[in-house]
Amino acid sequence: MNEPKEPGKDYKDTLNLPQTDFPMKANLAQREPEFIRQWDEAKVYDKLLQKNAGRTKFVLHDGPPYANGHIHFGHILNKTLKDILVKYKSLSGFQSDFVPGWDCHGLPIEHQVDKELGPKKKSMSIVQVRQACRDYASKFVDIQREQFKRLGILARWEQPYLTMDYGYEATIARQLGKLVGKGMVYKGKKPVHWCIKDQTALAEAEVEYDNHLSPSIYVKFETVDSLKEVSPQLEGKKVQFVIWTTTPWTLPANLAVALHKSYTYAAIQVGDEILIFAEGLLDQVRKTLNIQEDRLLDRIPAKKLEGIATKHPFLERISKVVLSDHVTLDAGTGVVHIAPGHGQEDYDVGMRYGLPILNPVDNEGDFTPEVGVPELVGVSVFAANPQIVELLKSKGALMKAEETSHSYPHCWRCKSPVIFRSTPQYFISLSAQDLRGRALDAIRRTQWIPHWGRDRIYGMVENRTDWCISRQRSWGVPIMGFRCTACKESLLREDVIEGIAKRFEAEGADAYFKYSAEELLPPSIACPQCGGKTFEKETDILDVWFDSGVSYAAVLERRPDLQMPADIYLEGTDQHRGWFHSSLLTAVGTEGRAPYKAVLTHGFVVDGEGRKYSKSAKNYTPPEQVLNKLGAEVLRLWVAAEDYRNDIRFSTEILDRLVETYRKIRNTCRFLLGNLYDFKPEADWVKPAERVEIDRWALAALQEFIQRVTQAYEDYEFHVIYHSLNQFCTVTLSAFYLDILKDRLYTAKAAGRERRSAQSTIYDILRAITGLMAPILSFTAEEVHRHTPDYPGKAESVFLSDLPKTDEALLDTALLERFDKIDQVRQEVLKALEKARQEKVIGHSLEAQVRISAPGEWKKLLQENLQNWAHYFIVSQVVVAPEVEQPTWTGAGIEGLRVEVKKAEGEKCGRCWTRSITVGKNAAHPALCDRCGKVLS
Ligand SMILES: [Zn+2]
Ligand SMILES: [Zn+2]
Ligand SMILES: [Zn+2]
Repeated sequence: MNEPKEPGKDYKDTLNLPQTDFPMKANLAQREPEFIRQWDEAKVYDKLLQKNAGRTKFVLHDGPPYANGHIHFGHILNKTLKDILVKYKSLSGFQSDFVPGWDCHGLPIEHQVDKELGPKKKSMSIVQVRQACRDYASKFVDIQREQFKRLGILARWEQPYLTMDYGYEATIARQLGKLVGKGMVYKGKKPVHWCIKDQTALAEAEVEYDNHLSPSIYVKFETVDSLKEVSPQLEGKKVQFVIWTTTPWTLPANLAVALHKSYTYAAIQVGDEILIFAEGLLDQVRKTLNIQEDRLLDRIPAKKLEGIATKHPFLERISKVVLSDHVTLDAGTGVVHIAPGHGQEDYDVGMRYGLPILNPVDNEGDFTPEVGVPELVGVSVFAANPQIVELLKSKGALMKAEETSHSYPHCWRCKSPVIFRSTPQYFISLSAQDLRGRALDAIRRTQWIPHWGRDRIYGMVENRTDWCISRQRSWGVPIMGFRCTACKESLLREDVIEGIAKRFEAEGADAYFKYSAEELLPPSIACPQCGGKTFEKETDILDVWFDSGVSYAAVLERRPDLQMPADIYLEGTDQHRGWFHSSLLTAVGTEGRAPYKAVLTHGFVVDGEGRKYSKSAKNYTPPEQVLNKLGAEVLRLWVAAEDYRNDIRFSTEILDRLVETYRKIRNTCRFLLGNLYDFKPEADWVKPAERVEIDRWALAALQEFIQRVTQAYEDYEFHVIYHSLNQFCTVTLSAFYLDILKDRLYTAKAAGRERRSAQSTIYDILRAITGLMAPILSFTAEEVHRHTPDYPGKAESVFLSDLPKTDEALLDTALLERFDKIDQVRQEVLKALEKARQEKVIGHSLEAQVRISAPGEWKKLLQENLQNWAHYFIVSQVVVAPEVEQPTWTGAGIEGLRVEVKKAEGEKCGRCWTRSITVGKNAAHPALCDRCGKVLS
C-alpha cells in the first residue's frame, strides 16, 4: 500500500512519471559501429534469409560499382536506396537476398594500376600485370565493403559477386560464346572512339563530353568536271564546294564531300570564283567568310550535284559529291567533308558509296605513311592540325581559319580528347537475329520508374550502332579469337570458347594468357579458309560493360536464392546507356529476354545550388566526416527524405534540418518507451474495443499511417515515408495525442483500465513505428526494439520481426472524421488560451476554465464530448454554454464559435495540478482533487 502524503507535501512520487534508459542523445557516430558488430556476431542477416527461405522471391540485382576508389555520396545514395527496398521486402516476408557486386576488370582499374606501376610495367609479363590489377581490385573491394557496412546495409557481404571471380570469368566467356554461336559477333574495320593515351577503343559509355578548343576551318574543294549539264551559268568557271571542319587532321583521309538530298545549293560568284554551299546558310556563310559583294548565279537541288568529282585540296585524289541525311543546317556550310575511317556517319556514307575505309593513323595517334604527305608521317594528329592548315593555305584552298571551343568527346579515365579511328575490332551486331528489334520489344515489356526512362533507353537502342566489344588492354576477359598464321584469317568459335571457359572455372581468365594457342585449341582444329593448322592468339579483351552486362547469367542464374529475371535493377540515370543497356543487349542476345522486370533510376547528388557534388566542388564534406560527426543514420534519412527521381541535394543546411527531424522522431520514441516501463504486453494489453475513445481514435489514425507508409514503400516513394513519419510523430502524436495523454498516463491509477488503455495504444504505436522505420532508420529502430517491453515472440532483432499490417477493423473512419472536428475545435481553443496567457488571465493552461459555444452541428459535437473537452484542451474545466457573451476568441476557422477563457474555479490539486472545487473535500487527502484522492486510496 502506498502511504498517502500529508497535505502540502510533494506528491511527485505518487505519479507514474516516465522512466527509460533509452538515451535522449543518440550518439550515433559512436554507437552505430557497435550495432553493426552485434548484427555481424548474431548473424542477423543469415537468420533473416532463413526466416524467409522458401517464400516468394523478390530479387533486387545489385549493379556493381568499380572497385577502384573510396565510396562517395553517389554510392551512399544508391546502396542505401537498395538497402531500404530490400529490408522492406524482407520484413514483408519476401525471400529477398541482397548480393552485392563489384566490377573488377577494365580500364578504370588498369588505369590506376598503370599509375602505380609506372615504368616498371614494361618489364612485367601480362599475367603479372593482371595479378597487380587483381590485387588492386581486391583491396578496394575490401575497403568499399567496410564503408558500405558502416552505413548499416544488410547484405551478403561475405559472399559478394566479383566480376573477376573465376566462375564469373567463365560465365563471361560462355555468354560471349553463345553470341558467337548465334552468329551475332563479327570482326570489322570500323571507326571507333579511340584514346591515344590509353591506346584502346572506347565504348560510347566510356566517352565524356567536355569543352575543347579546336581549329575551325573553311576549305574549298574545286570541281574537276564541267558543270555545264548542271547549270549553264557555271560553264567554264572555277567552281568550288566550301566545307567546314573542326578536325583538319581528318582531311588526309577525306574521300568525299556530302550534301543533303533535300537541300538546295546556292552558287555565288565572288570575284572570279564560284562558291557552292547550302542556300539555307547563305547569309550566315556570307557573314562568317566576310563576303562583301557577290552575285547569286544559280540555285541547284542537291540531287543534280551528286557524283560530281572534286579535287582533294592537297592530295592527288578525287573526292566525289555524295548525298547523306546527316548533313544539317545547324552550323557550317551544308557541305560536309567525309572521311569514312574517322567517323560513324562518314563510315555509313562510305559503305553506301563503296569508298575505302582509310585510316592513316596508328595506335599512338600518329600519322602512318598512308597519310600521303611525307612531312606528316609520325606526327601526332592534334599536333598536325596547324601543319595541315598551312598546307591548305599554300594550296589556296583555305578560306578561313579560327579557333572554336565546342563540346568534344574525351576519355572517361584519362580525360584526354579522343579521336575517331577505324581499326579491326569485334562487334556485336544489332541486326543479326534482329537483336535491335527484340531489345526494343523487351524495353516495351519492362516497367521503367520513372516512366521517362523508357523513352530514354528506347531511343538509345533504336539509334545505336553495332556494339564494339574489343579492347586493346590487359585487365579483362579475353575475346579468345585466334589468327591463322598462314592466311591471317581470324577464328572465333563457340566450341573453342567453351573449351577455354572450362579452364577459367579452375584457373581464371589468366589461363588464356598462360597457355599457348596450341594448348588452348582442340588438336583437330584447322583454318576454314586455308586449312592451316597453326594459330596465334589474338590479344583483345572484352569491353568491361560486357562483363557487368552478363551478371544476370553469372549471378542471377547461378545463385539458387536469386532468379532470372530480377524483379528490379536500381541505378543512376546514367546507366540507361551503361549497365541497363549492356545487360539488356546481352540478355536478349543469349536468353531472348530482358534480365529485369522493372528498372528504377535515381538522379545525382548535387549541392544546395544544384551543382554536381563531388570532391572538386567547394564546400565538399567527405562522407567519412559526416559519418564521424552525425552517424550513418542521418545519411540514411537524407536518402529517404529526398525525392530521388530528381537530382538529390546535399548541404550542411539540409543535414541540419534532418538532424532536427531525427531528434523529433527519436524523442517521440523515447516518450513512448518511457511510459511503458511498467507495461507487460502479455498481461496488461487491453483489447481495442475496450479502450478509451481517444485511444481507439489513435489506433484508427495509426492504421491510416501504416497504410500510407506501406503504399509508399510499394510505390518506391521513400520521401513520402519520411514526410509521413515526421508528420505522424510531430503533429499527430506529440502535438495532439501524447499531449492530451500525459495527464492520464501520469496521474491515473497505474494499473487501472484507463492507463492500461493508454499504454496499450502507445505500445501498439511504438511497435508499428519501429517496424515501419526499420528499413530507413535501421539503427534507431533496432535500439527502440531492444528497449520495447518483452512480448511473446519478440525477435532478437527488429529485422527478424514482421512488418506491421493495417488492421481494417480498427480503421474507424467515422471516429477519424469526428476527431478531425475535435481537433479543429481544439486548435481554436489553443489560440484562445494563448491570448489569455498573453493578457495574463492565466499562466499554465490548467489554471483555465474554458467556456465555449457554437451553433448547429458544432454545438452537437460540443455537447456529445462534454466530459472529455477538459482533457482535450488540457484545462481544468470546460463549460459548454448556450452563448458565450464575452469571448476571448471567436473562431476564425469555425463560424460562430466563441471561446471565453477565465480562471478555473476551486483550488489547485497538489498532485495533478488541476483546479477543482473538490480540493479540500477529501478528509484523507485534503490537498488533492477528488480524482487523485480516489487514485491514492
Ligand atoms: Zn584515356
Ligand atoms: Zn588460314
Ligand atoms: Zn488531482
